[in-house]
Amino acid sequence: MVDNEIHYRENCYLEEKEIKSIMDLMKQFGDINPPFLSRDSRIFNELNIQVKETNLIKDALLRIYDDHWIILINEKIYMNMPQVARRYLSHELGHIILYHFKWIKRVEYSFLEQLRWTYGNVSKDEKERHDRKEDYAWMIGRLMLMPIFAFVKPEIINLEEIIIASRKFNVNPMDILIRIYDENKNYKVKVNYQRLNSLVSTSKVL
Ligand SMILES: [Zn+2]
Repeated sequence: MVDNEIHYRENCYLEEKEIKSIMDLMKQFGDINPPFLSRDSRIFNELNIQVKETNLIKDALLRIYDDHWIILINEKIYMNMPQVARRYLSHELGHIILYHFKWIKRVEYSFLEQLRWTYGNVSKDEKERHDRKEDYAWMIGRLMLMPIFAFVKPEIINLEEIIIASRKFNVNPMDILIRIYDENKNYKVKVNYQRLNSLVSTSKVL
């Protein structure tokens, strides 16, 4: 049924039970200490995901097969920009999670579907759902890089704390700011946007 699929929702947010499912999965696979989603995290094995570096693609790409997944990632990004690589990797993992919990249909990831997207006619509605699906994959990726059970202070807006947290999670400071924004959307945590905005512009200079 279409209603099960979260990219049909008007607003892009995760329900509490969905967040819990993702957190439980991470705990089940022993990913309980930062930095999360490290190269040797069991989650890649358990979900049959192979990560391959390549110079053939610009950033990252996900391939679905009958019994496994392959995440292709640009080798220069992988080697020289580890935190950006982790952002891409977690995004592709976000897609896999959407499928794993049947929140998105498998067909959405088929090669034919990707061809249709590249060469076919796509309606405005489909385009919107596609964008929402992408947003969900990014959000889930950030959630897994900075899980609820380790992200003890969702209200952090002090620059020093953000830098400390970015080292702890091995993520770019910008991802922490967006993660705080996600938190606000999912849990309605109060965030001081004025401070946040000034921090966003400050962190660009770092
Ligand atoms: Zn994507």
